[in-house]
Amino acid sequence: MSEKPSEPEFEQAYGDLISALEASSLFQKHPEYRIALKRLADPERVIQFQVIWEDDAHEVQVNTGYRVQFNSCLGPYKGGTRFHPTVTISILKFLALEQTFKNALTGLNLGGAKGGSDFDPKGKSDNEIRRFCVAYMNELRFVFSAQHLSGEWARSKACHVYHMFTDCNLNSESCPTNTQGMTSPYIGPNKDIPAGDIGVTSREVGWMFGAYKVRTSHWECCITGKPLALGGTLLKAESTGYGLIYYLGHMINYVSNGRETLHSRKVAISGSGNVAQYAALKAIELGATIVSLSDSLGTVTAVSEKGIGLDDLRNIMQLKKHRKQLHELKESHKESLRYFAGSRPWKHVNAVDIALPCATQNELSESDAEWLVAAGCRYVAEGSNMGCTQKAIGVFERHRQTHRIGEAVWFAPGKAANVGGSAVSGFEMAQNSQRVSWSTEKVDKKLRAIMASCFQSGLSAAEQYAMAAEKRETDRLPSLLAGSNIAGFIKVAEAMLAEGDWW
Ligand code: NDP
Repeated sequence: MSEKPSEPEFEQAYGDLISALEASSLFQKHPEYRIALKRLADPERVIQFQVIWEDDAHEVQVNTGYRVQFNSCLGPYKGGTRFHPTVTISILKFLALEQTFKNALTGLNLGGAKGGSDFDPKGKSDNEIRRFCVAYMNELRFVFSAQHLSGEWARSKACHVYHMFTDCNLNSESCPTNTQGMTSPYIGPNKDIPAGDIGVTSREVGWMFGAYKVRTSHWECCITGKPLALGGTLLKAESTGYGLIYYLGHMINYVSNGRETLHSRKVAISGSGNVAQYAALKAIELGATIVSLSDSLGTVTAVSEKGIGLDDLRNIMQLKKHRKQLHELKESHKESLRYFAGSRPWKHVNAVDIALPCATQNELSESDAEWLVAAGCRYVAEGSNMGCTQKAIGVFERHRQTHRIGEAVWFAPGKAANVGGSAVSGFEMAQNSQRVSWSTEKVDKKLRAIMASCFQSGLSAAEQYAMAAEKRETDRLPSLLAGSNIAGFIKVAEAMLAEGDWW
């Protein structure tokens, strides 16, 4: 038995990958790829550090920060940063594994990583969040670089505390701890490029970028999701939600043979953060009816058949911008929205066509899945990473295998359906290195192209490797779960083979 500590989320994500690959004919056709599974059983590097920061009462606070650099075969490590009290090494390892395949599916040359901290931005002042972001980036970029490059751990630690309690100018030559210009061994445009995730918006990214720039004297794309004023890209905030809806459009188009669209479909969405907001916005723009949104404390459903309107959505966006909860919506909105405390949306929506989990991992359970299937739901696409439990996916996949096209539920995993954010991060890197800014239309066109190719590669891999293994009838849908896992895995495995990890 393994002596490693239990890491439930990571074991779930790795287990999902193995079962999708083993259920296909991939290893029969390419036994050499099996070796890649060993390389993917653990990250290439895990960095853990203390983040020491000062709160508004001048008290010292300590959090734990992490960066999991999972795989760099396809390019520099790339992946988001999550600030949430539930963050653990297990969660970041699962997210970094998923990110490795997501980045592979975008077709961009990027490896996979994820980072974050157990810091909770809720209840903190803006200035406390800013100080935390600066301290997080200083530790990630600086303490470890000082340790790595010169072995001066004690000096770097002293420096950290020195700067926390003095107004010393970090760039000044008289500063006793000045390490300006020192590059980081871990973070940088050709090494590892973080981005945002839960609890980290463009504002926090901007603060981390500023901290990196001050310490290194380099204006370079060390992080993506930046505000426009700092070289961020248009459509970054919208990208994951919009991309999810573009992907869903391809699913509907395939099932209906081009006869149907998202128009007039009833869509249940969970979450009310970045991904949920822009998925809802794009779906409304395309004529769909949004029946629910949620947050960590409860769910809102639409009272009217018309669904959650643009007005309600804009108010929810404002509320979330100020880190408030859905139960704090003004009285005027309570006429159009019904609030359910402590609930997820799935069992509060009646007949729905589509379910889009867009909040967090394991937010849709087996019994939620059974409920949705009974309520007529035919498409489930994950905006969140690993939004559905393994048992919930089992319900959807069994339904697909036992029902004809048009009657079956079709499930799309997050590693394919939510790649939009990763893709547009790649576009931000490209624009920064060329010193140009692309128009909204250009970014949107490229995003649509990546979502189309991501859908197609999952479909083709399922046709090639999963169909025969499943003994699928021709009137059954291919598994996007199997296909997306296989397509992403093949790209990573081929790169490992090409760089000589084995022969
Ligand atoms: P946000 O922080 O903007 O929003 C997260 C939403 O999920 C909030 O509504 C939050 O509620 C809710 N939530 C958080 N934790 C829980 C929980 N334990 N139970 C129920 N609800 C919860 O994050 P994003 O929208 O950026 O991310 C959402 C998901 O999408 C995550 O899984 C993320 O990894 C994934 N993702 C994000 C991408 C991006 O570009 N942002 C890219 C690809 C995937 P509350 O407001 O109460 O905290």
